[in-house]
Amino acid sequence: MLNDTTLATLKASLRGELIQRNEPGYEEARQLYNGMIDKRPRLIARCVDVADVITAVRFGRDHELLTAIRGGGHNGPGLGSCDDGLVIDLSLMKGIRVDPANCTVRVGPGCTQGDVDHAGHVFGLAVPAGIVSTTGIAGLTLGGGHGYLTRQYGLTIDNLIEADVVLADGSFVTAKASQHEDLFWALRGGGGNFGVVTSFVYRAHPVSMVYGGPIFWEVKDARQVMQWYREFLPQAPLELCPFLGLKTVPSTDPFPKEIWGKKICALISCYSGALEEAAAVIEPMRQELPPPILDWMGPMPFPALQSLFDPLLPKGLQWYWKGDFVKELSDPAIDVHLEHAARAPGALSLMHLYPIDGVVHRVGPNDTAWSCREATWSMVIAGIDADPAQASALAAWARGYWEAVHPYTLGGAYVNFMMEEGEERIRATYGDNYDRLVAIKNQYDPTNFFRVNQNIKPG
Ligand SMILES: Cc1cc2nc3c(=O)[nH]c(=O)nc-3n(C[C@H](O)[C@H](O)[C@H](O)COP(=O)(O)OP(=O)(O)OC[C@H]3O[C@@H](n4cnc5c(N)ncnc54)[C@H](O)[C@@H]3O)c2cc1C
Repeated sequence: MLNDTTLATLKASLRGELIQRNEPGYEEARQLYNGMIDKRPRLIARCVDVADVITAVRFGRDHELLTAIRGGGHNGPGLGSCDDGLVIDLSLMKGIRVDPANCTVRVGPGCTQGDVDHAGHVFGLAVPAGIVSTTGIAGLTLGGGHGYLTRQYGLTIDNLIEADVVLADGSFVTAKASQHEDLFWALRGGGGNFGVVTSFVYRAHPVSMVYGGPIFWEVKDARQVMQWYREFLPQAPLELCPFLGLKTVPSTDPFPKEIWGKKICALISCYSGALEEAAAVIEPMRQELPPPILDWMGPMPFPALQSLFDPLLPKGLQWYWKGDFVKELSDPAIDVHLEHAARAPGALSLMHLYPIDGVVHRVGPNDTAWSCREATWSMVIAGIDADPAQASALAAWARGYWEAVHPYTLGGAYVNFMMEEGEERIRATYGDNYDRLVAIKNQYDPTNFFRVNQNIKPG
């Protein structure tokens, strides 16, 4: 039973804050990145160390509270929070230690992508992860993690060396290749189903200055750009990662006023090889396609590229997204993309194709929980707008677009690009690996205590 005494005991046991409804700070603390999601947890435990996490897990279990784990709070369907239950908020657990001699980085679960980029950059190192600096590294990693360094160095999980985990019974283990091997396998793509990760150790790579940024073409050239891109990508050096977007030019500085609001086809790239070779590698993009309306590719520090989108995507926008894994971009699929992208509501809505080829394909489909090792792209269709009145239009557009293009995809999707879409979608995503994930869930979380996630139910 939850009463004043049990709550006072919990409060006294935590080094971090316990925030309850009607207390100061509650409204701010419950807010998620996606403004479309409005959850009101009963308790928010702002943990500051592993002891706090263990205390919170035991409390949630003993009081049979629906319990959510929150890292960066960026999850699309808001799976970092829950209604009426307990949120284990890790956002204050931000410690990072770079070991430059061994090229590894130990990262706390409250770190954002930007925290990790910042810490590594002074050592000329980067961990392959996402492309927007405000995203939580924890949820991103546990779902798989892809970004500009993926073709060259693999998914984030392919660079995960070990993880400290608080399990559903409150015990603490370290999972790595030689220890709790099954758990380590499941954490690499299986999301927050198996425990609360309190520390991640990653392999880092030498990345410092890169040649990157966007090139925009008018929508009348989009078909040609997409056809060219599908041929170019498989032959491009792995140091080059161009993702494709169907988007709208934001009506704001620093974009030139004459192109504000124009629908465009974009290639947004990062070349992490030798800078002096960059222009030659990019040359086909500049020479073999119609003249772009904007070309902002150039040399910049890696963290600068990683924060290019930040000003356009503040916390609190409305987001509705759906994804799929894509192997080929056929002409009929391009037709569908062009038809639906043209009807995108608002200036922020988008379709992105993120490359997940290259080194990602060198890992076997059963080597990690992430099973799709044959896709060329991870696709996301995202309806985004600042105005809550647009919420249903964003969702209707994204769903309609997704339904039309889904037949041209591999069936499953990146779990971090899903809304709450049901068990069938989760099964399609994990394919052959689903049964092993259920077996590991049975072992580590048989009561499904950790169920606020893309849930793998115990068998
Ligand atoms: C603007 C934006 C850009 C993005 N860009 C990329 C990108 O470039 N690449 C990419 O791969 N993804 C990207 N994503 C998707 C991103 O990976 C997911 O939104 C992810 O869920 C974010 O993690 P989080 O920690 O912020 O989420 P939260 O909402 O805090 O948590 C999401 C889920 O992760 C689990 N979780 C979080 N922390 C822990 C933990 N310590 N232990 C156990 N489980 C935990 C929980 O199950 C929780 O339900 C982007 C998202 C947004 C909104």
